Amino acid sequence: METVKIRRELLEYLLELARDFYPNEFAGFLRAKDGVFEEVLIAPDPHFGRSSAFFNTWMLPHDESIKGTVHSHPGPNPRPSGADLHFFSKFGGVHLIIAYPFVEGSVRAYRNDGSELRVEVVE
Ligand SMILES: [Zn+2]
Repeated sequence: METVKIRRELLEYLLELARDFYPNEFAGFLRAKDGVFEEVLIAPDPHFGRSSAFFNTWMLPHDESIKGTVHSHPGPNPRPSGADLHFFSKFGGVHLIIAYPFVEGSVRAYRNDGSELRVEVVE
């Protein structure tokens, strides 16, 4: 399985965001530096609900350091939904899903075709 690298500070921040937004989803774009995800840009609209369709309405920022997306699932299922896969296929890159209860083990990473990647936390 291929590996995606994420900085520990970012991972912990993402888990915190997922808990704060619960029972709603949060979503954001991920910035990478030298192959490691280091920064998140949060979705500008705080009113999205349980559907991931909101991704489709976003204006994707023109920023070449954006290499992926992240969103939370208010339930324990970390698999991408049909809407998620549709979005992934359009965006490319790497996609993190953080499922309830939002601990390190609830984080999954997927390629744009929905195949899973291993998450490696970098200190
Ligand atoms: Zn989803």
